[in-house]
Amino acid sequence: MNAIFREDLSRFDELLQQTADYAGDFLGCINELPVSMEMPAIPVPGLPEKGIGGQGALELFDNRFGAYLTACAGPRYFGFVTGGVTPAALSGDWLASAVDMNAADKSSLAFTLEKETLQLLRQLFSLPEAYEGVFVTGATMSNFTGLAAARQWLGEQYGVNVAAQGVGALPDIKVLAATPHSSVVKALSMLGLGRNSLVTLSTLPGREAVDVRALEQWIAYNPDTPFIYVASAGTVNTVDFDDIAAIAALKHKHPFWLHIDAAFGGFAAVSPRFRHFLNGWDQADSITIDAHKWLNVPYDCAMLFSRHPGLQLEVFQNAGAAYLGDPAQNFNYINYAPENSRRLRALPAWFSLRAYGAEGYRDIVEQNVNQAQRFGEMLEKSGHFRLLAPVKMCVACFTFNMEDRKLAEHIRVFLQALNKRGVVYVTPTQYAGLPAMRAALVNWRTTDKDIELAVQELEAVAAAIQGVSAILENN
Ligand SMILES: *Cc1c(COP(=O)(O)O)cnc(C)c1O
Repeated sequence: MNAIFREDLSRFDELLQQTADYAGDFLGCINELPVSMEMPAIPVPGLPEKGIGGQGALELFDNRFGAYLTACAGPRYFGFVTGGVTPAALSGDWLASAVDMNAADKSSLAFTLEKETLQLLRQLFSLPEAYEGVFVTGATMSNFTGLAAARQWLGEQYGVNVAAQGVGALPDIKVLAATPHSSVVKALSMLGLGRNSLVTLSTLPGREAVDVRALEQWIAYNPDTPFIYVASAGTVNTVDFDDIAAIAALKHKHPFWLHIDAAFGGFAAVSPRFRHFLNGWDQADSITIDAHKWLNVPYDCAMLFSRHPGLQLEVFQNAGAAYLGDPAQNFNYINYAPENSRRLRALPAWFSLRAYGAEGYRDIVEQNVNQAQRFGEMLEKSGHFRLLAPVKMCVACFTFNMEDRKLAEHIRVFLQALNKRGVVYVTPTQYAGLPAMRAALVNWRTTDKDIELAVQELEAVAAAIQGVSAILENN
C-alpha cells in the first residue's frame, strides 16, 4: 500500500472527526453566511505528483475555498427550487458514502432499503401500490425515464418496438403540454423525439394551467392519434396545476399517455390543505417527484413512479449480460432507469422519512406555504413591489411597481445589488411577458423571522437603487 494511503488508513477516525467538525462549523453559521457571492477567478494548481493526505486536502480545501462556501442550503436562499438538508438526511447521506454499496447489487442490503424507502414515499404521497417506483438523480432524469416509457407505449400503438427498432421507425409523434418545465423539452431532445415534437397548448386566462378545452380541441382535430400529454403539477413561476382529473377523464375516450411533472408540486399530497391540487393524479401513467427539493435531502435524488414498469423494462433492461441475470426473472432497479451502477441514494430519504414522519413533512410544506404567502403580502404592502400572481403554494412571483419598459434594467441593477449583500437570494424570471423575480421557499430551516429579514432586505435594496436611478435619470 502506498505510504500516504497507509497513513490515512491509520488515522481514518481522526479524518472523519475533522470533517464532521468542519461540516458542523459550516452548518453552525449557515444562517449568517452570505447566500450568494461574486466568485473571483481562482488559480488552479496542477495535479501533484505526491499527495498531501486527507487532512492536507481538507486544509487545502479550506484555504482555497472555505471563504466561498455560501448558504445555498440556508433559510434565505430562495433561488430555483432548492431544498435544504435535514439533519437525518445528512446522516443518511454520509452513511451511503461510508458503506458505498452499489445499489445495482441485489445481494446487498441496498435493494431492500431502496424498496422500503419507495414504499414509504408512496405512503407519504398517498399513491396506490400499483405504482412501481425507482430512484434517479433528479426530476430531469425522472421526466426522461417516464417519457421513455411513454415513447415505448406510443410505439406499441403503431406496432413499433422503439427499444429494438429505434425512433426512426416511428411516425410523426406529438407531445402535448401547456407549461412544460425546460427539462421536459430537454428530455424530448435526448429521447430522439425532438424538441419540435412539442405542441404547446394554451393556458387558462391569467394562469399557467392548461385550458383543457384546447386539449379536447386538439383531440377532435387529430382523432385516433395517440400522443403523450405532460401535465404540470407545480409550475416554477406560480406553482400552478393542470386540472389533472379533467385531463385524466379524457383518457377514457382517447388513447394517450399521461405523464405528470410534479417535481415539487407532488408535495401538495402531504397536506389536506393542498391535496386537491392533485385530484386525479393517481390515474397518471407516470409521475415525476424530486427529493432534493421539498423532501430536503441532499442532491442528487428524485423518483419516478410508474404504472407500466414492463415498458420501462423494455427500454432500460440490460439484456444479454449473463452476470446480471435475466432482467425479466430477476427484478433489479437497474433495468427500470438509465443508470446501472448506482449510489444508494435511497438512504438519505429513508433516514429523513423515518426521522420526521408524515407529520414532519406536512409541517415543512404548510410552514413554507404560509411563509411564501406572508412574504407575498408583505411585498405588496411595501409599495416597491407587486405580485404577478396569487401565491398558491411555495413560490412568490413579483416585480417592481413601475412602468413595464423600465423593469428589465431595474431588476438587473436590483439583483446585482441584492446579491452583493448576500442576505436573501431570489432569481430573475419572465412572467406574462414581464421581467420579474421569483422566490421559492422549500427549506425546512426557514422561519418567520427569515421572512421578515428577507422583506426588509428587499425593501432596503429597492429604496437604495431607487435613489441611484433617480440620480441617473436627472443627469
Ligand atoms: C426542478 C424541476 C425539474 C428538474 O429537476 P432537476 O432535479 O433539476 O433535474 C423539472 N420539473 C420541475 C417542475 C421542476 O421544478
